Amino acid sequence: MDHLPIFLDVKDKWVAVIGGSIASARKAEMLLRAGAQVTVFAAQLDEEFSDLCAHAAFEHSRKEPLQRELRSFFLCFIATGDSQRDEHFHAVAKQSGVLVNVADRPDLCDFVMPSIVDRSPVVVAISTGGASPILGRMLKARLEALIPAAYGRLAKFVGQFRARVGEGLSDANARRHFWERVLDGPVAEMVLAGNEQAAEAMLAGEIDRAAQESETDTTGEVYLVGGGPGDPDLLTFRALRLMQKADVVLYDRLVDPAIVDLARRDAERIYVGKRRNDHTLPQEEISELLVRLAQEGKRVLRLKGGDPFIFGRGGEEIEKLLEHNIPFQVCPGITAAAGCSAYSGIPLTHRDHAQSCVFVTGHGKDGPIDRDWNALLRPGQTVVIYMGLAQLDRLMQDCMAQGVDPELPAAVIDNGTRANQRVVTGTLRTLAALAREANLRGPTIIIIGSVVTLRDRLNWYAAERDEAIVTHESSSIGDSGEMGRLDTIDTEVWRAACSQTMTF
Ligand code: SAH
Repeated sequence: MDHLPIFLDVKDKWVAVIGGSIASARKAEMLLRAGAQVTVFAAQLDEEFSDLCAHAAFEHSRKEPLQRELRSFFLCFIATGDSQRDEHFHAVAKQSGVLVNVADRPDLCDFVMPSIVDRSPVVVAISTGGASPILGRMLKARLEALIPAAYGRLAKFVGQFRARVGEGLSDANARRHFWERVLDGPVAEMVLAGNEQAAEAMLAGEIDRAAQESETDTTGEVYLVGGGPGDPDLLTFRALRLMQKADVVLYDRLVDPAIVDLARRDAERIYVGKRRNDHTLPQEEISELLVRLAQEGKRVLRLKGGDPFIFGRGGEEIEKLLEHNIPFQVCPGITAAAGCSAYSGIPLTHRDHAQSCVFVTGHGKDGPIDRDWNALLRPGQTVVIYMGLAQLDRLMQDCMAQGVDPELPAAVIDNGTRANQRVVTGTLRTLAALAREANLRGPTIIIIGSVVTLRDRLNWYAAERDEAIVTHESSSIGDSGEMGRLDTIDTEVWRAACSQTMTF
């Protein structure tokens, strides 16, 4: 984050605006709306100022401001319309110690002015840190359309009841749940429809009811949510909604930090991640923690990588919740196989290659697993191996020892769907060595089957299209380059290419 987003109270504070340009007028107007006392220093004022001059909190000085004068101001805006004069006044203002904003000069700004969506008292501020004001404006336009104008009225309405709810519900969680219910229910609808009297009566009844309930009802709820394989765009709407409701978040090592960041800002976060042979919290303790937190009345978000019911041990956690009568919801996520498949250009099924697909784990409860690879890798079936990187060599050897064709195509996808996704393609015979040379760190999945060869075709289709140019570095690895490849992919570009070229 380049800037700290804060909302300043400028009511009755003195703010200097240097310059009489249109840009200065816009700043002065905004400052007056926020209740500041504004002094504009300019020999001449643009006619945009004409409406502002009559304002009681507006003052015009024709003199240039002196350094000592600026010292008494809370903030200083500079927009003279002349870059040299802007720089000169910037130097003067900085010496006075005041915080400065120079129009169109992010390099000279102590703070930037965001685009705003004004539904006072609700104000949404958008900043791109000066990187792309146009993108900021586009976002503003979307939010303008998304947030009903009446939200300002709704905020004022509930603001009047805050103290009363505080008295009736002493517990902070109970208060928050109450407000979420109100803002999502008929009371809010009535206010938005302009029927504040009826809303007031209904809200009064709800406050009394909630105060009585909070003394008896203390059980929370658990949300078992799949966070997908990494790219935050792959979260479901439902996952995002539950993440906004949770009081506490328990998350795994595989959940991308960008996804954990999307949980409610002041939710407590507990890392319960597991690494192979390094169990931060044993499964049993995680399940017990879920129960305990829910019994304290909390809404507990158990955030898991991929899908909670695919090698996610979600079932074990739910059994424990059932034992203790804790209410829960399960929200599916995109499993690693699906994410990696789409982002690497390797479909898991294809009419000409595979009519079925199985997911297996390379690592069982008690270590490496034994499988009938010959049966699994029969023609027409794709096999996806989760948790197989550490055993990759042995897995490939086992397949070949059981008589599977050593030239069967295979791929490893490391950190699938993330910005650092890497894909190694080869055959059963070459894959382990190629992956070793590529020094993959995981998490990775292995895809085995003739669908792997489609990756090159999809690459080719994408490159043929002007609108979907795939720019990825392709480098042969070691001596076996002809049989294998390592690609580091620009995920954004791939996503664009895949969405245009792949039909499953
Ligand atoms: N529930 C998860 C799987 C958990 S098991 C899901 O549905 O995806 C953990 C294994 O998932 C890892 O060892 C790895 O094999 C796979 N995995 C998870 N995220 C991945 C990613 N971004 N890229 C590749 N493999 C991933």
